[in-house]
Amino acid sequence: MSNQTTITESVDVVVVGGGINGVGIAADAAGRGLSVLLCEQGDLAGATSSRSSKLIHGGLRYLEHYEFKLVRDALAEREILLTKAPHIMWPLRFRLPHQKHLRPAWMIRIGLFLYDNLAKREMLPGSRRVQTDSSSPLNASISTCFEYSDGWVDDARLVVLNALQAQHLGATILTHTRCTTAQKQGDHWLVTLQQANGDTVTVRTKAIVNAAGPWAAQFINDVVQSPKKKSMRLVKGSHIIVNRMYDSGEAYILQNKDGRIVFAIPYEDDFTLVGTTDEDYQGDPAEVSISEAEIAYILTIANDYFKRPLSREDVVHHYSGVRPLLDEGNASAQELSRDYQIKISGGKGDAIMLNVFGGKITTYRKLAEQAVDELCDTLKISAKAWTKTAPLPGGDFSDKETYAVHLHAKYPFLTPTLVRRYVRSYGTLCERFLYGSSSLNDLGTHFGAGLYQAEVDYLVHSEWAGDSEAILWRRSKLGLRLSAEQVHGLDEYLVSQRASICPTQYAVGH
Ligand SMILES: Cc1cc2nc3c(=O)[nH]c(=O)nc-3n(C[C@H](O)[C@H](O)[C@H](O)COP(=O)(O)OP(=O)(O)OC[C@H]3O[C@@H](n4cnc5c(N)ncnc54)[C@H](O)[C@@H]3O)c2cc1C
Repeated sequence: MSNQTTITESVDVVVVGGGINGVGIAADAAGRGLSVLLCEQGDLAGATSSRSSKLIHGGLRYLEHYEFKLVRDALAEREILLTKAPHIMWPLRFRLPHQKHLRPAWMIRIGLFLYDNLAKREMLPGSRRVQTDSSSPLNASISTCFEYSDGWVDDARLVVLNALQAQHLGATILTHTRCTTAQKQGDHWLVTLQQANGDTVTVRTKAIVNAAGPWAAQFINDVVQSPKKKSMRLVKGSHIIVNRMYDSGEAYILQNKDGRIVFAIPYEDDFTLVGTTDEDYQGDPAEVSISEAEIAYILTIANDYFKRPLSREDVVHHYSGVRPLLDEGNASAQELSRDYQIKISGGKGDAIMLNVFGGKITTYRKLAEQAVDELCDTLKISAKAWTKTAPLPGGDFSDKETYAVHLHAKYPFLTPTLVRRYVRSYGTLCERFLYGSSSLNDLGTHFGAGLYQAEVDYLVHSEWAGDSEAILWRRSKLGLRLSAEQVHGLDEYLVSQRASICPTQYAVGH
């Protein structure tokens, strides 16, 4: 049965794009009683939203570009998000090694004073100056650092948790489903969605939310075929992952001579994430990849600062993403604003279109709230904002350590490594696949690195994971640990199960 066209019932909103902004808007809108359908052409978080530096941050360096509003809003979001999702986010201390010739101490102190005070801060400690000693991983020539706080987030899981929340609140989430046409018919749109097998469905909707990230302009120009053409600045950023560079738990923010900065961030216990670059990008966002020049650039900065020298052979993994930024004429890639813009049109008898441009993971909740406020106003629906205090799925516990003890007591056969990973990836959601088990054998086939069949089945059935890449690089980061042979074993299992598990091809409306 292929290439069928099904006309479905109408919904209030079709959200195009399953990155952080799309799922954030879908969850917020569904929670305010709107009927929502979200379509994602690939996997959830398959594009920019799994390729970030994974920081919940105000962005210290944006202060240099006088972006006080962006920094204040982002700083305020840090503690809101840390409370909403204590499983996949945690506070992170940063050290900024002081190099007199790059930025003077007075300038850094003013920046950190603003950073500490622009928004309310209850959980995160303030900044301070620290003298390093021989235990420091930094080169001996660096004796002073400035220390401050921000947050870390598992970006891809943040996307999936918002999608789960949206679904729980009644939204339909269709992955591997591309929006190919959108035709305005008076006060509504007819939207064509094409699934991976070629089948199409046509949905009637009062509003479209264009949360297509790097494809947002293309969506306006080619899918909606708007007479007003839109352009965006696409800026590539790449990261490398190396074996853990140092034992302590802080991250480093490294200033480069060209004014750019690179982070070195503790990653998945045994690794360090180093990046990012900032380069204008003209190609297909789906094809973005790191260049050898970018790898060399990141390695050079790391080697300028750290005692342990890194070489090309130390790179165990890398990834690249495309920032969808507001086009600001001649500004250089790193000077472009990371703020977002929401543009809504229609209403009063005209079909509604809401476009999202730019943004950061950190500000997704705020962006979604503002977008849904504007949608509700235009649709003449009165519904209160609600996401500020509601936990994300699995985040309904007060602190990780207490929950870890509870989980281990309930499932004593779990190794400490498994408990730690389950708590940090799933929070209380892990009990969905642990329920009823009393030994590791009960969790089924072991694919390697603590990945058991029970978790895989849960990810496929409940978290839209369609293949091993989604499981190993987005729902988890176990791709860093499985051998090629183990990945092959997982692939074979997924193929053998495909007839019984079909996560992505839902009939619309179900
Ligand atoms: C290198 C780098 C580092 C970053 N670091 C940070 C950081 O540390 N902290 C932070 O807060 N932010 C960071 N960001 C910014 C942040 O990652 C992005 O702002 C955010 O992920 C954008 O999310 P999005 O939903 O707009 O786009 P995306 O995640 O790209 O989602 C858009 C989705 O739309 C889908 N789509 C497009 N067209 C269609 C269609 N026709 N039909 C169906 N689906 C479609 C795409 O497949 C895609 O999945 C970073 C970005 C980069 C690139």
